[in-house]
Amino acid sequence: MEPSANPDESARTSLELLYNISREFAAALDLHTVLQRVLKLSMENVGAVSGSIIVLDDAGQAIESAFLMHGKAYDQSVLNLRVTLENGLAGWVARQRQAVLVPDTSRDERWLRRPDDQFDRTGAKSAVGVPILSRDQLVGVMTLVHPSPGFFNVDNLALVRSIADQAGIAILNARLYAESQRRARVMTAVAESAAAITESLDLDVVLRRILDQILHALRVEAVLLALVDTHGAELEYRAATGFPIRSVVGLRTKLGKGIPGWVARNGLGAMTLDAYQDPRFDPDLDQWLHFHTRAAACAPIRSQGKVIGVLEALNPVEGGFATDDLAVLTEIGGLAGSAIRHAQLYESLQAAHQRYRDLFQDSINPILVTDWSGKLIEANRIAEQTTGLRGSMLQALNIAELHMLDENAVGPGFINLHAGEIVSYESSLNTVEGGEIPVQVFVRRILIDKVSYLQWIFDDITEQKNLDVQRHDLIAMIYHDLRAPLANIVSSLDVLTSFFPEDDGQSIKSIMKIIERSVGRIQRLTDSLLDINRLEAGQPIGNRQAIAPQDLINDAVDGVYWSAQSRGVKVEKVDIGQLPDVWGDADMLRRVLINLLENGIKFTPGGLTLEVGARPSGAMVQFWVRDAGPGIAPEDAVRIFDKHFRIIKENSVRGFGLGLAFCRLAVEAHGGKIWVDSKLGEGATFNFTVPVQKEND
Ligand code: ADP
Repeated sequence: MEPSANPDESARTSLELLYNISREFAAALDLHTVLQRVLKLSMENVGAVSGSIIVLDDAGQAIESAFLMHGKAYDQSVLNLRVTLENGLAGWVARQRQAVLVPDTSRDERWLRRPDDQFDRTGAKSAVGVPILSRDQLVGVMTLVHPSPGFFNVDNLALVRSIADQAGIAILNARLYAESQRRARVMTAVAESAAAITESLDLDVVLRRILDQILHALRVEAVLLALVDTHGAELEYRAATGFPIRSVVGLRTKLGKGIPGWVARNGLGAMTLDAYQDPRFDPDLDQWLHFHTRAAACAPIRSQGKVIGVLEALNPVEGGFATDDLAVLTEIGGLAGSAIRHAQLYESLQAAHQRYRDLFQDSINPILVTDWSGKLIEANRIAEQTTGLRGSMLQALNIAELHMLDENAVGPGFINLHAGEIVSYESSLNTVEGGEIPVQVFVRRILIDKVSYLQWIFDDITEQKNLDVQRHDLIAMIYHDLRAPLANIVSSLDVLTSFFPEDDGQSIKSIMKIIERSVGRIQRLTDSLLDINRLEAGQPIGNRQAIAPQDLINDAVDGVYWSAQSRGVKVEKVDIGQLPDVWGDADMLRRVLINLLENGIKFTPGGLTLEVGARPSGAMVQFWVRDAGPGIAPEDAVRIFDKHFRIIKENSVRGFGLGLAFCRLAVEAHGGKIWVDSKLGEGATFNFTVPVQKEND
């Protein structure tokens, strides 16, 4: 419309126009629509050919724009807007908050400095620029252009200013509305990301939800998430959302490469509005993904102060990133950090749980779990196989129906188990066919998910029981059939020896000695077997006497002289100072020491030395035997004193595992202790203590 020559007419037109403008603006809230309408109306009313409005935020940054030329709308990148604002006419208007009429742009410094005059390089033009203000606050700049110099006059300028004044409040409202919309989206995203984290512990689900929230909140085309690998050398893409392109998940890049690599290495957020102009940007990923990155915002994901990954948002759908988008991304990055850590912890907990289940299921011993009333809660595979009872049948039972419960051991109402100690006793496990399997029961309190239960492990001792039966038979046989003839042989030998003269050339005498030693050995063995029976039955030591430790050691060393000799092992007595007498059964203690010495001789390689000694230890004397053998593993150190326990090795001589069991029973019956100090490969030192003689003994 040509500006009217008649002032009244012109005023009427202006008023009508302004009325229309305010009515129209009041109806629209969408910022982009408002801008287009303001621009279109202004251009029509002054006859401009092209024009633009740039909207500014509180900090004076361009956040939105509209650009029309020959009735067509164009999009301006946020980056272009920034350049315009820094160098062009619009910038001058914004800074000065002044309207300006430029009759000939070719003669105006402000226009000439404008670098992005790319739409129309036809030379001299005329232009009008006005600030858009609302309640003294600058909300934007409108620039109108006509290709002929001198086209606009002061009336036009005044009209555009009036429109701008009217538009100010509408643009501010629309801007605030857009801003509040965005904030609402962001708050929802942060809140829902936090909710997603608590809702699920499945890492993949958590990550996908977080990315969806970001996509929605920042209105971007794509969001990627990459984690730093365990060596800290690479980033691995773990999740992506948004673009319909080939998957990025699983892709790895070097730390420090590209914007995500830069962020991961430096621990700082980064934002670029023109990726290809940013030296940190790496176009390789774009090529791989068949994607074109325009703008990117990337924030570190932190957990316990360490950068464990990055979140990257690409290509805002409308205009550019808002100034606080990076802060939002960083905040969600912080949430993602704890989510990832929780999910990882949960995963390792699950794995530990699974390992425990596997151990439980694959155990070679039947294991049962009951509550504190004895009701069965769980049974492993071997428990089902051994008892012949299937899961549901087992679950209906009480532990007391499955085996002979030792009330003495567990206490009334399982009271002895409250302290958490392992309680063990011999019993028998019932099977569905009515059989009974001899077992050693180990029961203790356990916690499952903070609830306390009882765990029952059954060790099948059928073999030990069979050996015990054999031993009982053997003992009965010794008692009834061997003891008397053996005693006869010993006394006859004594008589026989007295028939030979002292100097028979040693031949007969030495043969007699061999017979004596062998018979002595058989006697020792039979005596120890009978002792085991007696001691196990709890009979006390009968014939105690005062014994000089030195004598005990001398006797025992004499007793093994020939075995040591035949194996080429030297037995050395050391460390025997002045010691008090001990109080005990001399024969039994001698057999204990001989047992230890014989074991030591058996395990010490020929040519090496076995040491034996004794030293005071409080109210006890501590005897010890140190060998140069292979030593004993820590896990065997306690068990070797158990009945029938043998360390099975290649080429090992098979014994009954009774020697050390006898030693323990004998020493403990005296009120002493027996133990071994050893490391594999460094020999073993067996020790035992015997109480010293007291005044009133
Ligand atoms: P056995 O009478 O069958 O030899 P013991 O009760 O004497 O049984 O010993 C139990 C286990 O301890 C045996 O398997 C044996 O291998 C191991 N052992 C005993 N003494 C020593 C030692 N001095 N060095 C290494 N191993 C030993």
